Order: sequence, then C-alpha cells, then structure tokens
Amino acid sequence: MAHKLEVRGVGYAYHTMEGETPALSDISFTADTGEFIAVVGPSGCGKSTLLSLLCGLVKPESGSILIDQKPLEEAGDLIGYMLQKDHLFEWRTILSNVSLGLEIQKRLTPETQNELKEMLKTYGLEEFQDMRPSQLSGGMRQRAALIRTLALKPDILLLDEPFSALDYQTRLAVCDDISTIIRKTKKTAVLVTHDLSEAISVADQIIVLSPRPARVKAIIPISFPKKNQLQGESKETALKDTDHAAPGRTESTISPMERRNTPEFSQYFNLIWKELKHDGA
Ligand code: ADP
Ligand code: MG
Repeated sequence: MAHKLEVRGVGYAYHTMEGETPALSDISFTADTGEFIAVVGPSGCGKSTLLSLLCGLVKPESGSILIDQKPLEEAGDLIGYMLQKDHLFEWRTILSNVSLGLEIQKRLTPETQNELKEMLKTYGLEEFQDMRPSQLSGGMRQRAALIRTLALKPDILLLDEPFSALDYQTRLAVCDDISTIIRKTKKTAVLVTHDLSEAISVADQIIVLSPRPARVKAIIPISFPKKNQLQGESKETALKDTDHAAPGRTESTISPMERRNTPEFSQYFNLIWKELKHDGA
C-alpha cells in the first residue's frame, strides 16, 4: 500500500544575522492512512520546525515530502494544523469561530454550516455554539479548535503540543477526548510532543528525535491489547472486531487513558526513555 505521507531525507537550517541554526538533519519516516504518529524529542530539537515543513510553511533544504506519492505543494488542502493555543477569537461566538477556516477558504455554504452544527452536536458543544470562548473550559475550547480544523476535511492532521497549555488533570482528559475523536474520523495524524507518556498513550508509531539538529534516533511501533483481549475474549466482541480495518483502528481499540494502565505502557516508557536519555537529552 502506498504511504499517505512520506518524509525522505529532509534537512533544514534557519539562516539569521547571527548565523546558521541547523534544525533538522536527514529525517525520514512514513505514515499510512489512519495511522497516528507521535514525534518526541527534547525541547528546541526541531519538532515544530518539522511540522512547519509538513504543512508547507517552509521548504526543506534537502530531501522531499510526499503526500499520496505527490509533492507536498500539490496537496495543500489535505493538511490541517492544530496548535498549542486554541486561537479562538473572543469577539466571535463558538459557531462563528469554528466556521472561520471555511469562511477564509470561501467554502462556507448552508450545507457546510449544517455540517458544522452536526459536528458541534456530535462533540457535545451544541449548547455552547452561541457563547464566547471565555465561557468555555480549556478542554472545550480545544475541542472547538479541533472542530474548526476538521471542518476543512483534511486527510492529515498536524498537532503541535496541543495539550501542553492545559493543567495536568485537564490535559489527560482532553488528550483522551481529542485523540479518540481523531481516531474515529480515521485521519492520519502527526502529533508533536515533548511528553513521552502522551505519545505512548495515543500513537501507533513513535519517532524519537535527537537533540538539535534533530535526527531520527528510533522509530518504535506501538501496539496495545484490544478491548476484548483486556476484558477476556468473549465470542460476541471477538466477532464484532473487523479484520479488514487498519491495524490499531478497530472499534475495540482501547482509549489513551486505558493504555496508561497496562503493563505495556511502562515497558514502552522505559524503552523510549532510554533512547531519549542516551545523549543527555
Ligand atoms: P521544538 O519545537 O522541538 O521545541 P523548534 O522547531 O521550535 O523546536 O526549534 C528548533 C531550533 O530552531 C531551536 O533552536 C530554535 O531556537 C530554532 N528556531 C526556531 N524558529 C526559528 C526562527 N524562526 N529563526 C531562527 N531560529 C529558529
Ligand atoms: Mg515546538
């Protein structure tokens, strides 16, 4: 199967008056449709730079980025971006905030407006649609930001530390919530984080980066038992599990919160922690 996203030998450096700052060196990895990739690495190693390249904001100095085997420039609309801050505007209601992307792209029609209202309903924000962002909790605001991004129907979602502005408790709940929504939509997702636990709780694959300039130190496939395996295999649940669904993508996939309570979780944590620590990162 052709990869949804292919990053091949990408390198990038910032050039400023003070000189050159190499940020990425020979980065290669792939992501398949519906796969959730997490990129971990120490602060300042080049993670946000990598996402800027993946969304086409800056061009790689070497190597290439392919979406559906075509150069990134031909696939601009297929990529959605979600940042650490929700960037909701206080002078707009929640409904008009989530409409913003469509409005900018001149795709706001009665039909797409109805789709937005459906999404607000599905994701529990229907009764907040006429409120202002400050009237919502941090978690709800991030959910609104996600809806605004999903409204553009991207194939690939890029997430740059989207939970790190939240306090720890909220962060666990919002990470659970948001990543479950993303999994249900079967989008390909690339989540950048410095939080290893967060990465292990959501990802199908973890890319471990070195300190700056970031190189790929390891690519670690992540797999957890399915729900029916955790609760003891019953015939009924085993039959519901569809064989043709993408790996890690069946209805019985356990939630990030449930992952945190498995023995596999700490095994992955120790393994990747050692990778990260190896050069004093
Ligand atoms: P991370 O997201 O992993 O914390 P970044 O990708 O933001 O790291 O930054 C990687 C390195 O590039 C850092 O050393 C940072 O100071 C530098 N950098 C980031 N943006 C710029 C810029 N616009 N100009 C110059 N240097 C930059
Ligand atoms: Mg960053």
